Amino acid sequence: MIDLKDFEFSELENFLKEQGEPKFRAGQIFEWLSKGVESFDEMTNISKATREKLSKVSFVSTLKIREKYVSKLDKTTKYLFELPDGNCIESVVMYYNHGISICISSQVGCRMGCGFCASTIGGLYRSLTAGEILNQVIFAQKDIGERISNIVMMGIGEPLDNFENVIKFLHNVNHEKGLNIGYRHISLSTCGLVPKIYDLAKENMPITLSVSLHAPNNEIRNSIMPVNKKYPVEELIKACKDYIKTTTRRISFEYSLISGVNDSEKDAEELARLLKGMLCHVNLIPVNKIEEREYHKGNKKEIRAFCDKLNSLGINATVRRELGSDIQASCGQLRKKLL
Ligand code: SAH
Repeated sequence: MIDLKDFEFSELENFLKEQGEPKFRAGQIFEWLSKGVESFDEMTNISKATREKLSKVSFVSTLKIREKYVSKLDKTTKYLFELPDGNCIESVVMYYNHGISICISSQVGCRMGCGFCASTIGGLYRSLTAGEILNQVIFAQKDIGERISNIVMMGIGEPLDNFENVIKFLHNVNHEKGLNIGYRHISLSTCGLVPKIYDLAKENMPITLSVSLHAPNNEIRNSIMPVNKKYPVEELIKACKDYIKTTTRRISFEYSLISGVNDSEKDAEELARLLKGMLCHVNLIPVNKIEEREYHKGNKKEIRAFCDKLNSLGINATVRRELGSDIQASCGQLRKKLL
């Protein structure tokens, strides 16, 4: 049985054609799926006979809200969603002046092993399907009753380690018969899987690529991000330059500031040299505490100084606002849960 949300629009059209259905049926079904229907029965503009026929060969997948936490500080809402196989993932809805954003997961767990991140503890269990990625947006939007206008793929998992399903999801969430979220309103963050950055550039989607850099050189990056041993800083920067050239899009570099590890004045200078002349922005994230690790953030003054140093050297840098800190919903704090 196939989950209808695992089809791209054109695949859904073909599938329905094989079932003897007219072409417009795909649009109708895509619209229903995006509204968060939980069965064929809710698709009231489709005949009962057709619904019965389709339910014999396909199904409408859902996500169950197992738990929901709302921040008292900023309304940020964290969902613990239960997947059909019983595994749980987390997604976070954030309220901004410019609209509502959702941070979604791409895998159950993660195999990248970054030393400061909770999502990787316990490794990777499995990748999410395209439908499971989309369902986080659909069911969060249904629950809050307001339109979600921005997506960040910065939850649990490494999106480029689940490349095909992520691309399929991006096409579907952008589709005009679907949630119709513009590519420019979507960010995808990677820890730096170099070959996949080249592949993504070729997809020709004007999304924003965020790259988790976190260090100005191989020595520091190796000590906190195992992926750097496979794809060192020079190769990563080369891939980023190619991405900028191919897509003409600015890259956003994420840099978690960890006290005593990567936050010295010398580190800021080296980072500025590394990124000089690139069409980019640096997003500084004071590292969030996770229980299992001994990494700490510096004080406000130190964080400000690092940011000012980069700006004074011609690198566009800002400090990311922290949301949902009272509900463990900040960067690097999301975790899979296995039942
Ligand atoms: N796997 C992707 C998607 C995760 S995005 C990636 O690595 O980019 C989440 C962002 O938060 C990444 O930049 C990640 O490195 C960062 N992060 C992880 N743990 C963190 C922590 N404890 N404090 C601050 N940022 C963290």
